[in-house]
Amino acid sequence: MRRITVLGATGSIGDSTLDVVRRHPERYAIHALTAHSQADKLARRCIEFRPARAVVGTPEAAATLETLLRAAGVPTDVSHGEDALAEVAADDGADTVMAAIVGAAGLRPTLAAARAGKRVLLANKEALVMSGRIFMDAVREHGATLLPIDSEHNAVFQCLPADDPRYCAGVSRVMLTASGGPFRTREPSTLHDISPDEACAHPNWVMGRKISVDSATMMNKGLEVIEAHWLFGAPAERIEVLIHPQSIVHSMVAYADGSVLAQLGNPDMRTPIAYGLAYPERIDAGVTPLDLARAGTLSFETPDLSRFPCLGLAFDALRAAGVAPAVLNAANEIAVEAFLRKAIRFTDIAAIVARVLERAAQPADAAASLEGVLAADAEARRLARSLLPAGALS
Ligand code: NAD
Ligand code: MG
Repeated sequence: MRRITVLGATGSIGDSTLDVVRRHPERYAIHALTAHSQADKLARRCIEFRPARAVVGTPEAAATLETLLRAAGVPTDVSHGEDALAEVAADDGADTVMAAIVGAAGLRPTLAAARAGKRVLLANKEALVMSGRIFMDAVREHGATLLPIDSEHNAVFQCLPADDPRYCAGVSRVMLTASGGPFRTREPSTLHDISPDEACAHPNWVMGRKISVDSATMMNKGLEVIEAHWLFGAPAERIEVLIHPQSIVHSMVAYADGSVLAQLGNPDMRTPIAYGLAYPERIDAGVTPLDLARAGTLSFETPDLSRFPCLGLAFDALRAAGVAPAVLNAANEIAVEAFLRKAIRFTDIAAIVARVLERAAQPADAAASLEGVLAADAEARRLARSLLPAGALS
């Protein structure tokens, strides 16, 4: 029986994870669930899964959760705050941690799970983008098992040799596929007046709002390029992005002998989640079987970097190395939040990220320590805020 903690249990990945867990009560038990502010939804999950512990972001959310749980006769221990979150991620009661918090807020707890030697199912790509070296060192030093949940990286992982999931000599390229998002074919001169709801209407995937905007700008693919660099040890020039509007080929690995291995499936996050939960076995994920004859055409094209400047910025940040990826990520988080609050235009997101990358101080050795990374993150957020209209995020 695997005992699982789900960080970010009320989000889109949290929902999909609990759906897979629900299908296999004989294999999985939930040790802890966390959420930021959605106490009602977390209470419903606790009533169903009876975890030993639950953690939320604020004292108010904790009070609401506690009241709801006691009324239902559920004895789950409730705590709150960032320290409790990092502590529950490392708690002995679980052997597996699903890291599904969105954004930089996931860094500390995800790193704590790695340092506690857990099986870490990594959805929270921002944590790895910010502190790739520190994170991968922690995984190695503490004997953690890191399994990628992001569908592309899960696909690459499945296409690499089972005995050497790190990028190896016989691999020539890692080929990440991207749907191109909702604006793949939209006239670029009309991109400036896109609304948050239009940006979040992804053609193939249902996801949280932040990653949906990132998919529309293709910053998501940029973050994934950096994620692939750390997970598989692949240099920037060996990582290729291909637009594949059908989202059926989830990514590919090209080998020196000319072979290309791909992983295919319907676009449903329960597939990579089930893979991570059961690895190295395979279990039912509740996913509709792929019908290739019905899918008909699978097409591929090279992304146009003038339409998707965020993708180019992410490649630049990866090549610049050091804290540049952390700066990119932090500026993007602020810009996306401002866009979701209708304080800036869709096209301002890339402009803000570019200006912060130009201006932010990036001391050479800052990426070697968590303090250095967090300082770069804070500085980039401050710079990004200074580029927003007054009161945009207040
Ligand atoms: P979401 O917005 O639906 O859910 C986010 C979760 O994080 C919620 O449970 C929320 O309570 C929690 N959270 C938010 N802010 C927090 C904070 N400050 N402190 C603690 N908890 C906080 O997001 P999602 O779409 O489920 O994505 C989660 C992560 O998985 C992201 O890093 C995303 O890039 C990655 N991912 C998602 C998908 C997808 O299909 N949704 C696919 C690949 C990767
Ligand atoms: Mg992805």
